Amino acid sequence: MIYVADPKRYENMIYRPCGRSGLKLPVISLGFWHNFGYNDSFENMRNMVKKAFDLGITHFDLANNYGPPPGSAEENFGRILKLDLKPYRDEIVISTKAGYKMWDGPYGDFGSKKYLIASLDQSLRRMGIDYVDIFYHHRPDPETPMEETMEALYQIVRQGKALYVGISNYGPEETRLAYETLSKMGVRLIVNQILYNMFFRKPEEKLFNVMEELGIGATIFSPLAQGLLTEKYLNGIPEDSRVRKSGIFLKESDITPEKIEKVKKLSQITKERGQSVAQLAISWILRNKVVSSVIIGASRPEQIEENVKAIYNLDFSEEELKRIDEILG
Ligand code: NDP
Repeated sequence: MIYVADPKRYENMIYRPCGRSGLKLPVISLGFWHNFGYNDSFENMRNMVKKAFDLGITHFDLANNYGPPPGSAEENFGRILKLDLKPYRDEIVISTKAGYKMWDGPYGDFGSKKYLIASLDQSLRRMGIDYVDIFYHHRPDPETPMEETMEALYQIVRQGKALYVGISNYGPEETRLAYETLSKMGVRLIVNQILYNMFFRKPEEKLFNVMEELGIGATIFSPLAQGLLTEKYLNGIPEDSRVRKSGIFLKESDITPEKIEKVKKLSQITKERGQSVAQLAISWILRNKVVSSVIIGASRPEQIEENVKAIYNLDFSEEELKRIDEILG
């Protein structure tokens, strides 16, 4: 059956500018790190993408190495694009990245120009598209000079292979240097994709301030701490959870009694706000205006449906924020 997107899809979603740029992102985006590989159900991922788009999620976050195996998430996304979303290409923001190990040898990892240019060409082929909307350098490279990595991003923009460029996992000083280096070449760095959630608040110390000053937007990954910030693990570890299905990035040992206790206390506040823990965790991140978009992961369409409802209640009283701070410690 031919997919026709919900005509009401833009009515409820909120869109924020990505830093000081003209690109608006939905405050909730969908990430492809887990559940989009060759071993996952294609019909399920296709349903998730369609559900997301129907809910106004116009931004899909990929990377060269997402799968497993690396590359398979981009390939699967390319198939979904061809089958369902092709007529909507101009209504969609596609992001990809390079910076983690992608192929053997000295040219398939980190931040050399050699790696980034080749990797993006491969990504475009896998997805069957001419350009991505955002291309990120996935992590800082301690060896390659910043000039070289930024020159690769500059070249990518000038060649029209990406419309915008960003960085990911860069700290405050690295972010400033990347921004200034790229500015000198006449290209604006619009986004830094970073880890931030109720259990990991480091960006509040310095990074958010630097990004605000420079007009760089934040896209946030693992907003639910990979599922920990939901009710999912309150009564043990379900068989269909990331811990059981993958167990590499989220391990059984990460589900500590301290964290479970905090989630239980948070669920008191969620009840008063009429939210689930996942919705609270997402709306709490969005209280920060430097955040352009929260990139959620999902293993089924219902989770996307639930998580998007976070935007119905984005306001926090001072008292609520204080109570949350006390719980998080
Ligand atoms: P989340 O913290 O949102 O975790 C997503 C997982 O939580 C889901 O796969 C699901 O796992 C569980 N979950 C989601 N919603 C619910 C719910 N309502 N109730 C119960 N469980 C729920 O994000 P991810 O860690 O997946 O990261 C999101 C995206 O960020 C990635 O896909 C990727 O695009 C990006 N990313 C970027 C990185 C970078 O270095 N730039 C690093 C990591 C991620 P399950 O049901 O399987 O238990």
